[in-house]
Amino acid sequence: MLLLEEVAATQRQQAFYRNFIQNVSHELKTPLTVIQGHAAKMGDAPDDRESWLASRRIIADEAKRLTQLVDNLLTLARLESPSFALERAPLSFAALLEEAVLQVSDLAEARHLALSLNLAPGLQRLNGDRARLKQMVLNLLDNALKYTPPGGSITVSAQAERSGGGCRLECRVQDTGEGIPPDDLPYIFDKLYRARRAHGRPVEGSGLGLTIAQEIIRAHGGEIRAESEPGRGSTFTLSLPCTP
Ligand code: ADP
Repeated sequence: MLLLEEVAATQRQQAFYRNFIQNVSHELKTPLTVIQGHAAKMGDAPDDRESWLASRRIIADEAKRLTQLVDNLLTLARLESPSFALERAPLSFAALLEEAVLQVSDLAEARHLALSLNLAPGLQRLNGDRARLKQMVLNLLDNALKYTPPGGSITVSAQAERSGGGCRLECRVQDTGEGIPPDDLPYIFDKLYRARRAHGRPVEGSGLGLTIAQEIIRAHGGEIRAESEPGRGSTFTLSLPCTP
């Protein structure tokens, strides 16, 4: 009996590993193919300035995407290592949000999405790992950009809640995109999980972004939850302990 259970567990692990390699290879290959194609195009028509600039922009966007995927893979490996420790220091979460929003603003514009940031005045600082927290916010923004059709909007907001002697920073990333089917919602933070999409163009993804976001927030003593209405949009709300 025990042996059968062990065989089943090994098979599950192998299937998971295959799926992981497939997803990640695909995610690495797609931007590389686009970059190669546009680099060749730039070489073929160096005097066509408009097409040259468009290709340069596409190459820069795809390179960003590759960097984010590699960062996610490295973070996942680190988070799962027993010696993992956050590199904490006092930081301004408001400044971090401003930076992350600025970083994706070109992409939002190119996709005809309105991107806005609403920060409550005087947001408290928190003690956290800046690089990891920024990566978490970028993963949420990346999803909002991917799953919101042109003409939609993405709003990032943050405020602090004080209760007793404590303080929590609450941040929302809200979009007016395609939303997440209720059957999928409980699983979207699972590693490699990708919700089935009823219609629309295929959207690239590794199924790792939310797993990593959740692990980063949990490592900081915080929580993340998702609410969504198919066809109307999704809201990701995270709460983190801050310095009162
Ligand atoms: P992926 O690389 O597939 O985007 P994630 O772990 O970041 O992986 O997200 C898991 C799944 O959750 C996605 O495949 C998608 O189905 C769903 N999802 C996440 N964010 C959004 C969003 N803002 N709008 C709609 N669906 C989303």
